[in-house]
Amino acid sequence: MSLLVQKYGGTSVGSLDRIHHVAQKIIETRQNGHDVVVVVSAMSGETNRLVGLIESLVDNNPDPREYSVVVSTGEMVSMALLAMCLSAQGFPARSYTGAQAQIFTENKCMKARIERIETHPIKQALQEGIIPIVAGFQGVDSYGNITTLGRGGSDTTAVALAASLAADECQIYTDVDGVYTADPRVVPEARQLTHITFEEMLELASLGAKVLQKRSVELIGKYKVPLRVLSSFHDGPGTLITYEEVAMEHPLVSGIAFNRSEAKLSIIGVPDQAGIAAKILGPIGAGNIDVDMIVQNKINNDLTDLSFTVGREDYQKAVVILEQVAKTLGAKGISSDAKIAKISLVGVGMRSHSGVAQKMFEVLGDAGINIQLIATSEIKISVIVDEKYLELGVRALHAAFGLDKEANEEFDPKM
Ligand code: ADP
Ligand code: ASP
Ligand code: MG
Repeated sequence: MSLLVQKYGGTSVGSLDRIHHVAQKIIETRQNGHDVVVVVSAMSGETNRLVGLIESLVDNNPDPREYSVVVSTGEMVSMALLAMCLSAQGFPARSYTGAQAQIFTENKCMKARIERIETHPIKQALQEGIIPIVAGFQGVDSYGNITTLGRGGSDTTAVALAASLAADECQIYTDVDGVYTADPRVVPEARQLTHITFEEMLELASLGAKVLQKRSVELIGKYKVPLRVLSSFHDGPGTLITYEEVAMEHPLVSGIAFNRSEAKLSIIGVPDQAGIAAKILGPIGAGNIDVDMIVQNKINNDLTDLSFTVGREDYQKAVVILEQVAKTLGAKGISSDAKIAKISLVGVGMRSHSGVAQKMFEVLGDAGINIQLIATSEIKISVIVDEKYLELGVRALHAAFGLDKEANEEFDPKM
């Protein structure tokens, strides 16, 4: 008998009708001869509602311990409703909070990492013929505090359970048919991929494609968990994440990701000297702010500019720190902009072909979109543009790289 871990996201359990539908899918899975462990998210909109309650009460730095207690309740409601719905139909099911499922995390209440899972409670339920329904997005630390795994964290719960239980497949059921060449809500012509390499999925998730939480993709890579993204609304094969390159020929660009949750800061006219980047970015890091893209630009022998991006939630804090740094270092000034967006092209095919960057810059240029920062790595190119051009840029690139067509391997970057 094979074991499947199935995760149902917020929209998939967004109403009582949807919970009923999910129960039918789980029953079918059982009737097809599989054992199944289920992970659920909160009903759609619920986590945002809970975060909203917290923010209305305390505007700054809510207590992480209490924050996690509040937001973890969303998943508890959906897990118990689903368990009741299954049991009422003659398929005994039992809900488990993160602590009851013994999902142990580091001692950090928000954005905590899972350290280990003691699988005996879940295995015991399976042995008794009971379907375990586990709350996503939550765990417990070594002091017994409820912890949460960061937004989108139910994907990570599912992958961690699949790895610990050595499941035959981890199935992430969501509200689209699988992984697409770009977010189908922004690019209507986006095409569903039958498979995507793990490396590409990791880049897409890191660069803003929220279909899988980045940490869940890191985990599947570590434990080589077989993972498929599928729709809970339509039947279909979904998208399989592959660890070996299935086809010899790869499209140059497999997908486009974007992110509108960053902000850009620049320090202008800093005296140029060895170690200056560390002097600027050190205080930002010390303020617990993660920096993403960094570009240093020497203006003349004496002066340099440095620009970088941070998460938008850290923007105000970063501006205050950078103003202080500018004073200390005798810089000419700082500038900052929260209305930016990052657009990224991802594809393992870029390794063996040049010209993708050039083509990207031409396409954006032709669309009248100015590029503010550029960063590249072996299989991705990211640019920062004005937020108002995000949709236009993503659609223009999607069309220019032929992502809406099946055989975009044919694309010649030099054309
Ligand atoms: P869930 O609640 O099921 O976890 P999410 O909203 O977290 O669902 O993730 C699914 C959403 O991810 C889709 O509705 C889609 O808008 C978005 N998305 C972004 N990029 C992609 C992509 N490349 N392929 C598919 N979906 C994407
Ligand atoms: N409910 C949580 C969120 O909205 C976790 C998840 O859905 O994966 O972020
Ligand atoms: Mg999600």
